[in-house]
Amino acid sequence: MIKPLFFILLFQLSLFSCDEKHSSSKDFNRSPHKSTLERKLVDLSHTYSHETVYWVTAKEFKLDTVFNGHTDKGFYYSANNFSTAEHGGTHIDAPIHFAEKGQTVDEIPLNKLIGQAIKIDISSRALNNPDYLINIDDLIEWETKEKTKIPKGSIVLLQTGFSQYYPDKIKYMGTDERGELAVKELHFPGLSAEAAKWLVEQRSINAIGIDTPSIDYGQSEYFESHVILLSQNIPVFENLTNLHKLPNYGFEIIALPMKIKGGTGAPLRIVAIIE
Ligand SMILES: [Zn+2]
Repeated sequence: MIKPLFFILLFQLSLFSCDEKHSSSKDFNRSPHKSTLERKLVDLSHTYSHETVYWVTAKEFKLDTVFNGHTDKGFYYSANNFSTAEHGGTHIDAPIHFAEKGQTVDEIPLNKLIGQAIKIDISSRALNNPDYLINIDDLIEWETKEKTKIPKGSIVLLQTGFSQYYPDKIKYMGTDERGELAVKELHFPGLSAEAAKWLVEQRSINAIGIDTPSIDYGQSEYFESHVILLSQNIPVFENLTNLHKLPNYGFEIIALPMKIKGGTGAPLRIVAIIE
């Protein structure tokens, strides 16, 4: 009985060392340099400039030059000041934006902002109807086509195709007027309240994003999808771009907003990493 035991032990030891060799070569393959070469990065943020699209009542982006040129000490120096509303251009809605006890932008956990993502392309319908409401059937259609449920904890990106109009305000959001009266003139697609509720209750998503100015459609009066998502601490990314460059699944999102203490939202740099 001693002999076989000894051989089993020897066999297990050799397996263990083989495993070790394996994992160290895997680690080498996963070095940051190699992974950058193998993965494709897609920028999903619009640039901030005088053209940046804001909500019709929000203060727009402003960049003021502090200094730009050669100093009297002989070196070149350049610096600016900027000011902006929290909600404009590619930005995040923090839960507190529509939920009294929701997280502020600095309190959103990083695991809601970084993770596995999917894309749902409803542009063929939305581009024909600027008042299109993305519904539960659109989401189920994606699941049927991809033969999988929307994974729990996903970041879900909704592609309406409207980012192709940015920054033409009339095409992108229905009006280039500004102020309270212009709110009624807003036309762009968004997520229906029923679909928002379904994503929260049936699929437990981590975050959601869209390539229009708002997760609720332009004609919304009660911003129900905002309330449903944000009251569950699900952050919302708005005014995204380049979604047509993403596959339907098999990519990760890194969405890092400016960390404003007590902020209800903030400018957002968001990138996709395609495996
Ligand atoms: Zn917003």
